[in-house]
Formats: sequence, structure tokens, C-alpha cells
Amino acid sequence: MKKALQITALLGAVALLATPVAAKKIKWKLAETWPSTLTPLASPPAKVAALVSEMTNGEFVIKVEGKEKHKAPLGILDMVKGGQYKMGHSGSYYWKGKDINTVWFTSMPFGMTPSEQYSWFYYGNGMKYMAEVYDKFGIYNFPGGNTGNQMGGWFRKEINSVDDLKGLKMRIPGLAGEVMAKLGVNVTNIPGGELYTSLDRGTIDALEWVGPGMDIKMGFHKVAPYYYTGWHEPASEMQFMVNKKAFDKLPKNYQTILVTAMKAAAMDMYIENFATSVDAWEKMKTDFPNIKVKSYPKPVLKAMKSAADDVYAKYADANPKFKEIHADYMGYMKKARAWSMMMQYGYLDLNKKLAE
Ligand code: CA
Repeated sequence: MKKALQITALLGAVALLATPVAAKKIKWKLAETWPSTLTPLASPPAKVAALVSEMTNGEFVIKVEGKEKHKAPLGILDMVKGGQYKMGHSGSYYWKGKDINTVWFTSMPFGMTPSEQYSWFYYGNGMKYMAEVYDKFGIYNFPGGNTGNQMGGWFRKEINSVDDLKGLKMRIPGLAGEVMAKLGVNVTNIPGGELYTSLDRGTIDALEWVGPGMDIKMGFHKVAPYYYTGWHEPASEMQFMVNKKAFDKLPKNYQTILVTAMKAAAMDMYIENFATSVDAWEKMKTDFPNIKVKSYPKPVLKAMKSAADDVYAKYADANPKFKEIHADYMGYMKKARAWSMMMQYGYLDLNKKLAE
């Protein structure tokens, strides 16, 4: 009897040991550059929060705070670096003043298409360079959703020559802004929420934002009806930033859950923005016939391309890491473009010819 009791006690102790110690609930905050209602840009953080909570049975919770809450749309990197927020969602090229090499992870003027760029990220050296560039900020950076090829922007007047660009006040971020500046444009960057008012009040004469899915609901066409095709952001990828110390402290399975959720949410945004633009493009023709869709004349495009090459060369001369990434990026683009022309352009072109 005594022995049986001992065994029961022993079994009880073993059972106790086998019971996992309840993990402390993890609560993080994420700050995004956008107002929390501005989909599709605001969609990936919301999806990550939902997926992570569900996959951890509510043990890992991420609270998403939009621009309306933190009031620092272009301060996200600093807030994640400092740890006030464990995560951020923004655009890498907003940080070019901190390190010019952050521009490589959004989109480059006359650069890669989304499929080319995703190949470079995941099967070329893109993610390796992303890790190197963000290391000094104490941040892990991840792709955060792609807009696809963006439209070139809204103008009050038609652009017939390079001279028509001179003196224009335009919102256009990233290296594309520097390209436009070389052509005489007064370039500024303004957060999305203030764009319409700036255009309406004449603080700016022109702007680029994303594409029809996001642009039409902003109302830019009411002030600036000339809508130009894009050259400057052919594959704009948003970014997830994660504070390194916080990430490294997560249990391994939570790290995997978070990384997987970010990748899924990023892919979802690419699809969502494409679908939104499909609908907006169709509606635009009937609902807003005053919008004039234009492509820049070839001499203007040639001047833009030449200015872009100069901007690339200027940074490559001054910054060895820029030079290294530039060579790798351009080399990959050349290789990938041959297949894009065959697989994507070739298919669209043969269908176009059939319809003629
Ligand atoms: Ca843009």
C-alpha cells in the first residue's frame, strides 16, 4: 500500500514535470506609416496581427497603431530601433537620409518588375543585402507587400517636353525624386494623408502616389487630370521592420510564425492592390472621363533615364556598398529581364496582336 502511494506520488510528479509551464503572453506594438484605414498599404500589418494571434492561440498579440495614433509617419524606423515599438510597417526608401542603401528594398527608377525583384530578394542577394543594411539600426527587415508597377503621377498640365518639368513642385520620394530634381523639378516628400490638401492648395503642382486603386479615392483627378504612366517605382515593396533584440528573445516557433505571417501578408497585399486597380481602372473610364492617361514623350523619358543613370553613378562613386549592390542588382535585372520579356511581355504581346 505504501509502495503504491509512493508510485502514485511519483507519477504525479512526472505528470507535473510533463505539463508545459504556461508561457508568458507576449504583447507587442507595431507602428505603421499609414492611417490604419488606408488599405491596401495598411492591410499587411492587420493580417500579420490576426495570423500571429490565431497561430499562437492568442499567446502572441501584436497591437497595430496607425499614423492617427503615433503621429510620426516618417519616424517609424527610429521608433522600432529605440524599442518603443517592436515592429514597424513602412517604405524602405523613406530612410535614404539615414543610409542611401535603404532605397534598394523598395523600388528603383527603371528597375526590376515585382517578379524580378522577388526573385532577387529570395533567390538572389536581395535579402542578404537587406540584412546587412539594416543591421546597424538593430532591425531585421522583411518585404512587406508590393504595389506592383506604379503610375507616374498626376499633373495639372500636359508634359510635352523636359522644359515643362522645370520649376514644377512635385511630391515624389526615393531616388526618383533626385532624378526629377536633376530635370529642374522642386521635389518634396509629403505623407499620404496630406497629399490632396497640398495639391488642392497649390503647395505642390504634381504628385505621384501609387496607382488607380489607391489614387482615385484620394480625389487627385479633381485637381490634376493628367495621369502619367510609371517609370519610377516599377515594383514598390513595403517593409516590415522588427526590433532585433525583441525578435531574438521570441521562442523559435514564434519567430517562424511571425516570419511566415509577414511573407503571407506581403503576398496578399500585392494581390489586393492588383485587384483594386483592376476595378478602379475599369470604373475610371466610365466614371471619370476627364482623366487623361498619358505616357511621357520619348525625349522626356530619355532625359529621365539619363538622369537616373547619373544618380546611380553619383552614389556608386561615393559609397562602396551602393556600388556593390548596384552591380548585383543591375546584373540580376539583366538576367531576369530576358526571361520576363519571353514569359510576360511575350504572352501579352501575342494576345495584343491576336486582338488587332
Ligand atoms: Ca509612389
